[in-house]
Amino acid sequence: MTTRTRTATPTSDRSETTSTRPRRSRRAPGSKPESRLALVRRARRINRILAETYPDAHCELDFENPYQLLIATILSAQTTDKRVNMVTPRLFGTYPEPADLAAADPSDVESIIASTGFFRAKTKAIIGVAKALCERFDGKVPNRMEDLVTLPGVGRKTANVVLGNAFDTPGITVDTHVQRLSRRLGLSTNTDPDKIEADLAALFPKSEWTMLSHRLIWHGRRRCHARKPACGVCPVAALCPSYGEGPTDPAVASKLLRSASTA
Ligand code: SF4
Repeated sequence: MTTRTRTATPTSDRSETTSTRPRRSRRAPGSKPESRLALVRRARRINRILAETYPDAHCELDFENPYQLLIATILSAQTTDKRVNMVTPRLFGTYPEPADLAAADPSDVESIIASTGFFRAKTKAIIGVAKALCERFDGKVPNRMEDLVTLPGVGRKTANVVLGNAFDTPGITVDTHVQRLSRRLGLSTNTDPDKIEADLAALFPKSEWTMLSHRLIWHGRRRCHARKPACGVCPVAALCPSYGEGPTDPAVASKLLRSASTA
């Protein structure tokens, strides 16, 4: 993997709403490819700056145990965590254990989760997972990747969310934000989520994996948007080969910032 970037001195930005960083330009075409050592150093500097910028980064799904997080993560497909958090209190109040959900009438579940979208498919998925937990794991969510991915509809992304946040087992969650940011930041040239996960895992110590995922997701939700990234107020602009994909004028870029409540 080769990445072209300039090596400017970064400045941290603790504020989520303002930035005073100087404008930067992309590395000139034809300059030397980035060495592996330079890539590792740049990646870790980005992580440090994001840690300063988003010191409260965390999983934005509400949950009290691994079962709730697993179900909430499945429900979060194609919708916001905020929307999921609006339906899960009633869902888990009605079906507090996997055995309750496994025995649920699908139409009742559909009516509870309807606002999250794709509610028929999601109902089928979460009841199927609950049944599998009861049949094969004694009604408990397993704490190993190799077991989690045997659950119907559970891939490495969902498994890593559960491992990292409910079991304190380091995991890199490659969702749509992490995919996009990995490419923009030049941390991976792959498009396959499993390969991106492997690329990121090779750049950062294991102890950083879970928090790195949260920081990238927070940055993607608040600044580095899919359509118009707020490059002009980005704390890692000096380390980003994609600087300029979005507006670089701070006044224009600051209008693109999103807060936690709207991200
Ligand atoms: S907002 Fe712009 S400069 Fe910042 S990470 Fe995204 S593409 Fe790079």
